[in-house]
Amino acid sequence: MSSHLSAAPPVAVRVRAPGKVNLSLRVGACQDDGYHPLVTIFQAVSLAEEVEATLATPGAGISLTVSGAQADRVPVDESNLAWRAAESLARYTGVDPDVRLHLHKGVPVAGGMAGGSADAAAALVACDLLWETGLSRAELSDLAAGLGSDVPFGLVGHTAVGTGRGHLLTPAMSRGEFHWAFAVRDEGLSTAQVFRTFDEVVGGSADVELSDDTELMQALRAGDPVGLGRALHNDLQAATLALAPELGRTLEVARDAGALGAIVSGSGPTIAALARSRQHALAIAASWTAAGVADSVHCATGPASGARVLSS
Ligand code: C5P
Repeated sequence: MSSHLSAAPPVAVRVRAPGKVNLSLRVGACQDDGYHPLVTIFQAVSLAEEVEATLATPGAGISLTVSGAQADRVPVDESNLAWRAAESLARYTGVDPDVRLHLHKGVPVAGGMAGGSADAAAALVACDLLWETGLSRAELSDLAAGLGSDVPFGLVGHTAVGTGRGHLLTPAMSRGEFHWAFAVRDEGLSTAQVFRTFDEVVGGSADVELSDDTELMQALRAGDPVGLGRALHNDLQAATLALAPELGRTLEVARDAGALGAIVSGSGPTIAALARSRQHALAIAASWTAAGVADSVHCATGPASGARVLSS
């Protein structure tokens, strides 16, 4: 094809990637590498991160800015997972890492909903387009797994079973839309600390089995929120509650408001409550606010799609 027909390279790319809730999180005993084997069922939700990657002048390197809720709590240096995503793509492909990244936060920071992982997934997709490096999904997924256990799921979204560290994914069938309310606490929790507390107060079993989630998978396939609410499960919940006991009250308020199920999201401290409808999700969120048990509240639906390009 003659070159004048090919599109001009983009100067800026905007990508959205979703936060997640673990519908089930089963955690095994800590391995020699410091990680815990998991069997988890992820659902991506409509709280999302947006990453804009803009070409920078050659030699400028990576720079990063952040906006949105809790933006002041996000690092803007090389410790940011989106920065590391750009760096790792540049290293893998041999391009110069010249890019300006802007993150717009829609997912609670350090809340157990994989907001930082969504930033990394979105940054990988955005820089791959911006730098015209054209990686395959498999290559992007490998780079994602090197950045963090939840980053590969940020790429694929929807509903998936995660094994290994949570990074090996198989799509799961799910019908219809589920309605969620989320109670957010301003002070986040470190995932590593929650896993350490899990080792101290619970300790993982030698085997983790997906067969324990048969009812949950059936409820997903049937689009049955009542069955899903009953089957929600999180092995990290006791550890999170040991670190943040006040979350027990947040769970209680959700149940009193008729939530079909209420759990700690991932390693917390966000609490996720499954609702019968959007109206019901709003009512649960209002109960949290009235009880003064959350710093902020959100309503969302799931499943949501994985990282996708909004403009380029
Ligand atoms: O993979 P990621 O960097 O997101 O994990 C953060 C921390 O959470 C790890 O350093 C580890 O302490 C803990 N973790 C774990 N087992 C997993 C995933 C994470 O112990 N499967």
